[in-house]
Amino acid sequence: MAHLSPSGPPPEATTRGFFGVFRYSRRAMELVWTTNGRLTVALALLTITAGVLPAAMAYVGALIIDAVLAATRIATDTGEVSMSRVFWLVAIEGLIVAAITGAQRGISLCQALLRAQLGQRVNVMILEKALTLELSQFEDAEFYDQLTRARREASSRPLSLVNRTFGLAQNMVSLLSYGVLLVQFSPWAVVVLVLAGMPAFVAETRFSSDAFTLFRWRSPETRMQLYLESVIAREDNVKEVKLFGLGPLLLRRYRDIFRRLYKADRALAIRRDGWGFVLGLIGTLALYGAYAWVAFAAVISRITLGQMTMYLMLFRQGQSAVSAILSAIGGMYEDNLYLSTLYDYLETPAVKSEANRESGPNPTDGVRFEGVSFSYPGASRPALVDIDLHIHPGESLALVGENGSGKTTLIKLLTRLYRPATGRILLDGMPLDDWEETALRQRIGVIFQDFSRYQFLVGENIGVGDVRHFTNEERWREAADKGMADAIVEDLPGGYATQLGKWFKDGQELSGGQWQKIALSRAFMRTDADILVLDEPTASMDARAEARIYEHFRKLTKNRIAILISHRFSTVRMASQIVVIENGRIIERGTHEELVKVDGHYARLFLLQAEGYR
Ligand code: ADP
Repeated sequence: MAHLSPSGPPPEATTRGFFGVFRYSRRAMELVWTTNGRLTVALALLTITAGVLPAAMAYVGALIIDAVLAATRIATDTGEVSMSRVFWLVAIEGLIVAAITGAQRGISLCQALLRAQLGQRVNVMILEKALTLELSQFEDAEFYDQLTRARREASSRPLSLVNRTFGLAQNMVSLLSYGVLLVQFSPWAVVVLVLAGMPAFVAETRFSSDAFTLFRWRSPETRMQLYLESVIAREDNVKEVKLFGLGPLLLRRYRDIFRRLYKADRALAIRRDGWGFVLGLIGTLALYGAYAWVAFAAVISRITLGQMTMYLMLFRQGQSAVSAILSAIGGMYEDNLYLSTLYDYLETPAVKSEANRESGPNPTDGVRFEGVSFSYPGASRPALVDIDLHIHPGESLALVGENGSGKTTLIKLLTRLYRPATGRILLDGMPLDDWEETALRQRIGVIFQDFSRYQFLVGENIGVGDVRHFTNEERWREAADKGMADAIVEDLPGGYATQLGKWFKDGQELSGGQWQKIALSRAFMRTDADILVLDEPTASMDARAEARIYEHFRKLTKNRIAILISHRFSTVRMASQIVVIENGRIIERGTHEELVKVDGHYARLFLLQAEGYR
């Protein structure tokens, strides 16, 4: 098991000892109860009913046979045929059977309704939790595994656990009622019934835990399979897959993973069923011994024929009740293990700060970086080293540097998507860590170069820039006008109500440059954010369009802070402060004129580009 990489506590720890098995049963019950109390009560009552009735049926069955025998005797002795008692008993048995069917239907109805509600509830819980997590947690492969496991299995597991618990209760009630009748034959009969199921049970729990371990260690592989599926079968990847002829290669990888997983699956399935058969045989042997014993008792007339049929039926049904109970317990064990991944995930501590301040002591101070350094988790060298910066309101800052020099990382730190390892960042004279989350986010409007392309309406794609005006068409228009997306939208068949993307019916696809204009308009939705950041969002536009957009941008950011990352010097030179970053360090800073005069890195890059245009 080269890939054994369980995150969180190992299964042994979460379920130590036999009763550890039921660690999550109570929580699953609570979950079901709080999801729909009335359905839960109905389910409980129906379960008890369905549990008691089979014994009653067996009892009435015995009465019928004995009544028939008695009636036959009377008929041969006196020639009188009296059927009324038999008829009554048959009618009662018919009613009981009808009641059993009704109860079972009711149970499956309740389960179906609960399943829908519970599945939705657990999925919402998983998503709500996801909203509280940090970006860095999503980028952590082990954590991502945990999230995938939770999403894949755990939404169906709580109900399964509850169904099994109720099934257990139902069969317990049945078994108890069989026991009450069987004890009259012999207490030993009850002991045989219960013991006969034990070996199979031991095998069941043992293999459940193996299956779970398997599920856990293969999580990265399953994730790779899901990923390959999405590469092969999703519209945004199809182009490259076709042109590079990647299809067969990817499919081979997909098959290889399956083959590896299947080997382990098959081995486990064979062991599980092999042992299950052998151990089950022991149980069957014991039960048939008991059968012979009951038959013998009837032969020597210790019991009536009616009683014999009843006891035989009790044994047969008792056997299936015992095996149902044991497999329910085995299944509950498995459900508990799976639920442990759900709760591991739900209980991941959110790195939520307690900070609740909504304004800083010095609103005219703007943004300050003081000796800020940062490394990505697992990275061998820091992405940013010793960054000092100060931007006043009304000023603009342009970041210049090669790809991978750390520009985007700086923005991520400013927006608190990551936290600096050393040093601190202040806004209005207060460290970012002390800012209340929403207050901070409302101050800053950012468009990243890898902005999201939502498969929503085009208007909504602009509206996401400010959730308070998400559906406000007037605001969409204003923002689209400033981001120069208005012409694009007007050309679309449904105007602002046109669906974008190819996933949904009548969706329209846009070009890269068109998407950028939509994304830019998002930035203009935020009319009251006082720090606006554009991270290369105009790369696919022509120089004239970019210049016009920055014109708007400058007007919009008159008394605010504007930060932009661009490779076009026509744009960069307008900034009041330019910072050149290389390998995570600031190597030059100043205005365009100052930097050209210094004749350093910036000046060289500037000349290079100017020559390109000549
Ligand atoms: P720029 O925006 O200047 O192109 P970035 O700030 O995106 O550069 O990246 C700076 C460095 O950090 C690069 O070496 C890159 O490989 C690394 N890096 C960027 N994002 C991540 C991430 N999410 N996880 C780990 N390393 C990253």
